[in-house]
Amino acid sequence: EKSRLTLLGLGAMGTALARAWLAAGHPLTVWNRTSSRAEPFAAEGAAVAGTAAEAVAASDLVVVCLLDDVSVGEALADADLRGKDLVDLTTGTPAQARARAEWAEKRGARFLDGGIMAVPPTIGTPGSGGYVFYSGSRALFEARHSALAIPAGTRYVGEDPGFAALHDVALLSAMTGMFAGVSHAFALIRDKDIAPKDFAPLVVDWLTAMAPYAYGVADHLESGDYTKGVVSNLAMMVEGNSTLLRTAGEQGVSAELLTPFMALMERRLADGHGDEGTTGVIDLLTR
Ligand code: NDP
Repeated sequence: EKSRLTLLGLGAMGTALARAWLAAGHPLTVWNRTSSRAEPFAAEGAAVAGTAAEAVAASDLVVVCLLDDVSVGEALADADLRGKDLVDLTTGTPAQARARAEWAEKRGARFLDGGIMAVPPTIGTPGSGGYVFYSGSRALFEARHSALAIPAGTRYVGEDPGFAALHDVALLSAMTGMFAGVSHAFALIRDKDIAPKDFAPLVVDWLTAMAPYAYGVADHLESGDYTKGVVSNLAMMVEGNSTLLRTAGEQGVSAELLTPFMALMERRLADGHGDEGTTGVIDLLTR
């Protein structure tokens, strides 16, 4: 017997979550600020609540997936959270998650924060690789795991309610650097006789081959030895950077996406670390 679940927020992500729970036959109560987005769910078997407070009252497990942390505070302003298990899938910062956890606990709820590493089309699609980072109350996570695992895989990363957001944002930050590199690469080949569709698989294969770079970085940070296993040293790479910059110039492409990272590599080299890889850049960022 599955206990009822309440979902607040039926945007792109909330809609995908709701459909996944309904498809699994999970009893569901939904609420959305703009009620026209909630009404269609009645025909799909959900109970549609008129207010957020009513929706919260309907279930012991309450999942929120709203635009941002401010909307969570607004939506739950006059809900009675005593005895509830509150799971916040709204993207936010680690500090916002910690503050929201304290806020929820003061109001009598257990709290779990989530960071969704998936897009709406992969929600409810086993094998898609999508998952959610969770942190905060381990007891809540364990008690509610079967319901939480329906829309996507789950990865619990610790009692600190900020850790899900920290993992989420760290991965998104890594992705941002990758997007920058891919943008620069396509700018270089654009309007030459190279078809983007032929170039794309080369980019994907190359980035996939290079991704284990992260294991080398971890090994350096764990051991404190930044020269360990280095096959391409910083002195050589900084030399190579000049070729990247000259090529950008020849192709008429701005190098503005590359130069901030290159400047850090040069600073680390100037500090006398030419035999390392690029791990020392992390020391410059966190100092
Ligand atoms: P949408 O913009 O599609 O939906 C936003 C939702 O928040 C709507 O239900 C909206 O209600 C509601 N909302 C906004 N402000 C308030 C408020 N002040 N009070 C009450 N409700 C409010 O966003 P998504 O569904 O795509 O995203 C939801 C969360 O999921 C975000 O934190 C996002 O970062 C995260 N996420 C989304 C991913 C995606 O690919 N879409 C991927 C990973 C995470 P209304 O309909 O009334 O406007």
